[in-house]
Order: sequence, then structure tokens, then C-alpha cells
Amino acid sequence: MAPIAFDNSYARLPAKFFTRTDPTPVAAPRLVKFNRPLALEMGLDADALERDGAAIFSGNRLLAGSEPIAIAYAGHQFGQFVPQLGDGRAILLGEVVRPDGARRDIQLKGSGQTPWSRRGDGRAALGPVLREYIVSEAMHALGIPTTRALAAVTTGQPVYRETILPGAIFARVAASHIRVGTFQYFAARGDTESIRLLADHVIDRHYPELAGTDGRYLKLVDAVAERQAGLIARWLGVGFIHGVMNTDNMAVSGETIDFGPCAFMGTYDPRTVFSSIDQMGRYAYGNQPMIGQWNIARLAETLLPLIHETPGEAVDLANDAVTRFMERFQVQWKAVIRAKLGLGEDEEDEDTDLIRGFLALMHAQKADFTLSFRRLSAAAADGAADSDFAALLADPQAAAPWLSHWRQRLSRNGRPAEARAAAMRAVNPAFIPRNHKVEEALKAASEDGDLSLFEAICDVLARPYQDQPAFAAYAEPPKPGEEVLQTFC
Ligand code: AMP
Ligand code: MG
Ligand code: MG
Repeated sequence: MAPIAFDNSYARLPAKFFTRTDPTPVAAPRLVKFNRPLALEMGLDADALERDGAAIFSGNRLLAGSEPIAIAYAGHQFGQFVPQLGDGRAILLGEVVRPDGARRDIQLKGSGQTPWSRRGDGRAALGPVLREYIVSEAMHALGIPTTRALAAVTTGQPVYRETILPGAIFARVAASHIRVGTFQYFAARGDTESIRLLADHVIDRHYPELAGTDGRYLKLVDAVAERQAGLIARWLGVGFIHGVMNTDNMAVSGETIDFGPCAFMGTYDPRTVFSSIDQMGRYAYGNQPMIGQWNIARLAETLLPLIHETPGEAVDLANDAVTRFMERFQVQWKAVIRAKLGLGEDEEDEDTDLIRGFLALMHAQKADFTLSFRRLSAAAADGAADSDFAALLADPQAAAPWLSHWRQRLSRNGRPAEARAAAMRAVNPAFIPRNHKVEEALKAASEDGDLSLFEAICDVLARPYQDQPAFAAYAEPPKPGEEVLQTFC
């Protein structure tokens, strides 16, 4: 039996959707990480993949049934439309259908040039590959929809950036690699028939309940908006900043995709930006819902000719769907933040004040976002833990008024304190990928060939909601001098 039973639905679409391209072989591939549980979940032959992983996940050996393609797409990059982007350094090896019936892409990133490479070398450096490995698996463990990391290999070849870096290839698993930008590619060419084919493919694959229904293209906009709104609400709940929410980096499946200069917020401030390429703060933490809506508007635009035959009607219908994005986001964000504050069950009007008050307190007091919620979870069970929370604030005295308001609110709800605290711990992680710990692991791997810190951080982040006293250092914010102010992709 083949180690991967491919069934490649995207490669059956018309030829203009992609280019057939094989990975470019590399000199000395070495498997540095293999995600065995993920391979098993996908119904793959994990033993064979682990044994031959260096050859397979470098692209040096193509498996039977693989039909390597580079997908065409366009995209708005920082608001500027680029009509032709495409997989310039990624190659889709093919798709598999998991034992539970779900279809998954297996893609190599950094596997060499494609016809879409423009001036790029088609390669990836070890640091960014390991960053995507760490952060995408952390997102999964946090319970957030995301592409997954199947494997990472080093190539034995250098890549040339500002400096010379070790090269690597990342094997990624995704529900699909279809982006808002994939729709834009055909819209930019006035190719309505291809948009219809793509939309029907997306519906079959990700929104099968819409298949064959009347008005399905407008419903598709709403369905994608619902998932994106939920996704961004969950990002905000863990302090995640994607960093490059270009339309080519927004998957229509609703998964988080393309982990470039992404980072998690330390001190709470909605204006937080880490990405070195985001000069204007377009993709700051607090802008993400608005950008999600902007991207949904770009998706809706591509579908206008399919939404209604009268252009004016189509625009009105699409505009309403775009407006509904923000309503959907508000509903989902409220659910996320209420659960984080232990208000998961009944709702009261004044909860809005309590939520705003907590965010304002963290902001004014320069409190660590993750630890604030985690320590509040402890305080829910035991008032003696209030001081641990207060200690996170610039002025610990400032905690008391909000805490007393919160306690009054909780006392009106009969839920046992220990049950509430447990529910809060299940949504307020102890561990996130702390930027300084991520950078430390990437640096050791890239500069010294030492993967031990990479392995350690992967292990810790596999159980983000459990206290792991032996790894307390991974829960701590950076000490003065350890802060990472910028991330690079
Ligand atoms: P990203 O910033 O990773 O979302 O990529 C944006 C576009 O640039 C995509 O079309 C990528 O395929 C392309 N790209 C990024 N890096 C490279 C590279 N090293 N070689 C070729 N294309 C690249
Ligand atoms: Mg991208
Ligand atoms: Mg990318």
C-alpha cells in the first residue's frame, strides 16, 4: 500500500487554476520533525513516512499518486491589489481523504521555484519554517482552526536573505489552500465561469450544506464570513496577531493560514504590531476584525456576477452580507470574552461594562494579556489569589474596584466556584508561544543546529491549558531586555 493514498480534486479543475510543477531536489535533506499523531489521524502510513521522511518531505522523492501543482492566486497586499501572485515557493503534493471523510491538502513550502516565483528563490529558511511549525501546532492545541504541521526538513543548502541561513522545507496540512485571492485571480481576468467553478468546488469541499441550493453564492459569502468572524474572535481571545492579513493569506475554509511574522501579544494594547513589514499598523491586534470584514468585501466583489444578474441588486445583497460580518464577529467575540471572564452561562446587560472595564484595566495598567486571564481564573475559585492577579498591574491597588464588581456579578450566579474556575482555565491558556521563547528556539536551531529548545517549546505548547510547573519559564512574560519588538518573515 502507498504511504499516502492521494485523491487530488483540485488538480481535476481546469488547467488555468494551477501549473503542474515538481519540487526541485535538494542536496542533503534531513527530517528534523515529524508529526506522527497528525499522520495517523489522516490515515497515512506513519512508519513509512517517518522512515523515508527526509526524501518525501523534501520533495526529492515523489510518491505514487502525487500530482504536484502550484496554485494560481492574486491578492491585496497591504491594500494594494496584485493581480498575479500564486504559489511562488509552495507546491501542493496532493490531497487525502481522512478516515473520517474530511479532505486534506498536503503541501510543501520552500520546495523550489515555480512559474509563479517572480524574483523569489522558491526557498524557505529554517527559522520561519520552525516558527510556522511551533505556532500552527500551538494554535491547534489552543483549539483554534488552523493549518497543521506534518513535518520539517532541512535541505543542506543555504538560502540567501540579508544573511546566509540554513534552508528548510515545511510540510503543511490544510483543509484547502483556496484563498480570497484565488477568487480575485479570476475576477481580475473577468473570468466568471472559473469563479463559478471555484465557488462550487469550495461549496462541495467546505460548505456542502449549500450545494445545489438557490442563492448559494451569496450564502457562501455569509458562510465564509461566519467562519472568519469566529476565527478572528478566537485569535483575539488568545492575543494572536496574524501580521499579514492580505487577501491571499485568508483561507476560505476558515483556518488560520500563512504564519509569517505572526506573534502573540504580551502586554495588552490593541495597537500592538510586531511585523517588521507592517509599517502603518494595518494589521494591528485590534484592527483584525475590521480587516476581516474588508477581506470579506473583496471576496463578495468577486462573486457579484453570480449573486444577482442585475448589478445594482448584486451590490446591495453583497453589502448586506459584508455588514453582517461585523454582527457575526460581535456575537462570537462576546461569547469568547464572556467565557474568559467566567460569565459563560447567563447574560446580564451590565456584562458589557464588566468586559470593557477589564480590557481598560489591563490596558491602563500595562498588564500581560495571557497571565491576566489565567490568574483571574485562579481568583474565581479563591479570593486569596486576587493579589496574584493584582501583581500584574503597574499599580496593584487599581485591581480592587473591578474585582469587587466582578465578584458581585459572580455571586448572582449559583455556579460552584471550583467549577467556574475550571471552566475559565479551559479557555484561558497558561502557555502561549511567547515571542522571546520562540526566538530563542529558532536562534539555537539556525545558528547552532541545536533543536532541543524547539522540541521543548513544542512539548509545552501541546498542553496550553494545563499548569506545567516544570516549564514555568515558558509561561512568563519576557524580562527587561528579553522583549521581542519585531518579528520577520
Ligand atoms: P507570503 O508573504 O508568504 O504570503 O507570500 C506572498 C507571495 O510571495 C506568494 O505569492 C509567495 O509564493 C511569494 N513568495 C514569498 N517568498 C518567496 C520566495 N522565497 N520565492 C518565491 N516566491 C515567494
Ligand atoms: Mg501567503
Ligand atoms: Mg507565505
